[in-house]
Amino acid sequence: EGGGNMAASGEGDPEGLCGAERPGAGGLALLGLAPSAPSCPHGPALLFVKTSQGKEEGRRFYACSACRDRKDCNFFQWEDEKVSETRLVAREEYNRNYQPPFTHRQNVERYKNFVLLPLSKRRFCQECQQLLFPTEWEKHLDHQFLCNISIAQLKSPSQLLYPLENKKTNAQYLFADRSCQLLLDLIIDLGFRRVLSVGTPRLHEMIQSKASQGEDFRVRSLLLDIDFRYSQFYTEDEFCHYNMFNHYFFGGEAAREACMKFLHQDNGGRVIMVTDPPFGGLVGALAASFKKLMAMWKETGKEGHNNQEMPMFWIFPYFFESRILEFFPSFSMLDYQVDYDNHALYKHGKTGRRQSPVRIFTNLTPSMIVLPVEEGYRFCTICQRYVSSGNQHCEICNSCTSKDGRRWKHCVLCKKCVKPSWFHCNNCNCCALQSHTCEKTDAGCFVCGKAGHKRSTCPSLSST
Ligand code: SAH
Ligand code: ZN
Ligand code: ZN
Ligand code: ZN
Ligand code: ZN
Repeated sequence: EGGGNMAASGEGDPEGLCGAERPGAGGLALLGLAPSAPSCPHGPALLFVKTSQGKEEGRRFYACSACRDRKDCNFFQWEDEKVSETRLVAREEYNRNYQPPFTHRQNVERYKNFVLLPLSKRRFCQECQQLLFPTEWEKHLDHQFLCNISIAQLKSPSQLLYPLENKKTNAQYLFADRSCQLLLDLIIDLGFRRVLSVGTPRLHEMIQSKASQGEDFRVRSLLLDIDFRYSQFYTEDEFCHYNMFNHYFFGGEAAREACMKFLHQDNGGRVIMVTDPPFGGLVGALAASFKKLMAMWKETGKEGHNNQEMPMFWIFPYFFESRILEFFPSFSMLDYQVDYDNHALYKHGKTGRRQSPVRIFTNLTPSMIVLPVEEGYRFCTICQRYVSSGNQHCEICNSCTSKDGRRWKHCVLCKKCVKPSWFHCNNCNCCALQSHTCEKTDAGCFVCGKAGHKRSTCPSLSST
């Protein structure tokens, strides 16, 4: 079954949202971007292989990099499959036809003309998610539309457009104002001037609107996102249609150049990349793309930052910590809980239903990143970082060990801190939920394949 239905999710993933690749989980493993990969409308497809017990098994195949739901893109091809000439031609034609009705260039022209219309002539079709000119009204008469689109609305496209919430593909979860503002404050306080916003349209929008209001606001942003609807509101210097799972610029060389130009300004100095990918995402594919973006930045370094990495904030759930550190060993996870507007589960503790599991991973020094004391964060002088109020410094581990914001407890038998809801099970010889069923461990862990523990306590899931 295509790229969908990646391995079962472990207990480390309390929401069960992350169908991402887990080595050995009896599912699919990502092999990555092959040089001769065939393309679907979302750019080069990724190579996968079926696995069982951590071993590669069976035929390798290509599937769409962006859509893990076959309903969104059903591209599939065996690696060793002979594809006939007619099918190749049909595929090319399909990919061409799949393109959006207007190009980015056309959309930029349309925007220029749209703002010249009197307010009463400015409409937005909610069904087609498109700005409408009076000559186009007729075609959309039986669609729902908004009238009198103001300049303010045009400057907040993330509110005008409906969020694409389909979990498996776009997973568009917008930052709550409080979290977006905190990110921007951090960026400013750390002295950055340019933000490469990869899948963070709301942050981009906040920066754009402040930049257009105040002359003393010096931060600039370039948005890279697969959501082409944004091309209606931003120029080619402000938005690139981009796929972060295969580092594909839909706008070709010109778009890549625009991104390059943005990174190279000011000799590559004072740039930070901020990204908030869909959580179902394949960490390996994302990491490969981010490394390529980092390499693009590095090409700027005639002098200075040759041995440095482009600073980055990667926003992702805490239970992916070990996966992210595998690819980016210089990263650390901050305690700050990122909140969302349209995600019932991930709202702030006091107002929402529960604490958010989403964190900031960064290659900046954690002690430099000041978290809001009003929200209970405090500085641990031993760990040299800000931690959440519930995160107690454990004398035995000599670190602030909580990952989820709750106070964790130390287990002397396990020799580490564990979740407050866990108890030491003598049968399994490790800590687990009291309600767990003791599994025979000789078969090896379902997640990592190693013996000695089972899936619910697999160290690869939640701790390092
Ligand atoms: N919290 C962010 C939005 C994150 S939601 C904010 O408020 O700004 C994830 C974002 O990634 C969405 O904007 C979505 O369109 C984008 N996205 C999803 N899949 C993508 C892909 N394959 N390549 C690039 N962007 C993608
Ligand atoms: Zn319409
Ligand atoms: Zn500490
Ligand atoms: Zn401890
Ligand atoms: Zn224990």
